[in-house]
Amino acid sequence: MVSRVIPVDPFDLVIFGGTGDLARRKILPGLFRRFCAGQMPENARVIGAARTEMDRAGYQQMIREAIAEFNGDFEHDKAQLDGFIDRLEYVAIDAKGEDGWAELQKLMAGTERVEAYYFSVSPALFGDLAERLQQWGMADAQSRIVVEKPFGRDLKTAQALNATLAKYFDESQIYRIDHYLGKETVQNLMAVRFGNMLFEPLWNSQYVDHIQITVAETVGVGGRGEYYDKSGAMRDMVQNHLMQLLCLIAMEPPARFDPDAVRDEKLKVIRALDPVLPHHIARGQYQAEPCNEAEQPGYRTAVGDPRSRTESFVALKTHISNWRWAGTPFYLRTGKRMAARSSEITVVFKETPHSIFTEDAGRHRNVLSIRLQPNEGITLGVTIKEPGPGGMRLVDVPLDMTFADALGPDGSEQVDAYERLIMDVIRGNQTLFMRGDEVEAAWAWTDPIIQGWEARNDVPKPYDSGSDGPTDANELMRRDQRQWREYSA
Ligand code: NAP
Repeated sequence: MVSRVIPVDPFDLVIFGGTGDLARRKILPGLFRRFCAGQMPENARVIGAARTEMDRAGYQQMIREAIAEFNGDFEHDKAQLDGFIDRLEYVAIDAKGEDGWAELQKLMAGTERVEAYYFSVSPALFGDLAERLQQWGMADAQSRIVVEKPFGRDLKTAQALNATLAKYFDESQIYRIDHYLGKETVQNLMAVRFGNMLFEPLWNSQYVDHIQITVAETVGVGGRGEYYDKSGAMRDMVQNHLMQLLCLIAMEPPARFDPDAVRDEKLKVIRALDPVLPHHIARGQYQAEPCNEAEQPGYRTAVGDPRSRTESFVALKTHISNWRWAGTPFYLRTGKRMAARSSEITVVFKETPHSIFTEDAGRHRNVLSIRLQPNEGITLGVTIKEPGPGGMRLVDVPLDMTFADALGPDGSEQVDAYERLIMDVIRGNQTLFMRGDEVEAAWAWTDPIIQGWEARNDVPKPYDSGSDGPTDANELMRRDQRQWREYSA
């Protein structure tokens, strides 16, 4: 398979927060990989901007070190690294003050190229940055801004943030990143659904028993304790990542693969979601790892609050009230310090309406698994005859398409979500970015769940590190005579 790299137009990408964790760990290493792939045009520039005083050489050294640390096993030669580092500029700037803006303006003046401003800073600074970009005449109708999550912490704050950005930028200029949407398999989900005749006719409540979405992490809150404790799994994962996956799996076929057609359909799904009943949710908080408490502390120790009521795990059942999905439950779960790192969507089809075989053959269901990580790929479980004599016994076998196996070395060379999304910003393609109304609708669905917990003083149930979460999550399934699919490590 030949990988096709289409160069993008010349661009200037300003990264506010260019010295921060996200910039050093994801954005700049990702840009370097795109540079090595030949996608960055000759005269493209990346301009780091943050308060720390340093010169261009200092910033270049910082990013050299970041690439060495976070791009460890990516093969490249010194000339490539030097070539990329040569594209880097740095401006010491204060988002809240006047320092550095004249210098940035000078750097950006007189260039005829795509201008993108990545707000890789706390959302509290989004308004200041947007305002100053306008004040200093750096934002025209063609400029793009990229904003990171979290986009608000509830409907009210998200609306306020949208209103602030809307004062300075049109919606067509705003790129709200949810890096899950940049994952190869997520886009493959659309290819599988809308590129094959095989699945779409079965993609409804008549044939689908239920759908599960699991995003399990083995890590705990790590150094993000302070931030995470104000957020929790519902805000940090469900409102954005899981919700986006749910939209893509459940949406109607858009008329075209274009930004607004896709985002209109996603929005309809969110708006059709039923409110979640309290007994359809399980909330948990991880415990310390036995005998290893020093290295793997429990949630409350990790966040430094012995009485914290923030959840590190949530599992829930919801329904989509529309013609396609009425009666098909969607089960979502996500958590930290779980048994394996895995993101997977599972579509469990119904049994055949009538079995022609004896009872010994058992009843079977087709299961379609879409793995986002690890081993990105798609598996369809098909029922066949167990080989050998002894009558008709049925067995489920997987039709497995692990991308690395099916597509060969080039196909398995996955482009990281950030790389893809940044290149989409430069191309001006908003399909894989969340629109303001989508984000608000997602908060409108999430808010009552969180408010319910707060009103009831709900305490999340403890669960063992390295487990599948609290027993309540299994109970949620058991009550429906179903069970969570084992997620692959
Ligand atoms: P971080 O490590 O704390 O970096 C923040 C950056 O903002 C630093 O470069 C900091 O540099 C700069 N900054 C702070 N105040 C500033 C000001 N007044 N003017 C100009 N620059 C200022 O944070 P991060 O982890 O990179 O996260 C950045 C954003 O991405 C946040 O919104 C976060 O929620 C989001 N995010 C992060 C991750 C992740 O993996 N890190 C993942 C998803 C989303 P100076 O101190 O030198 O000014």
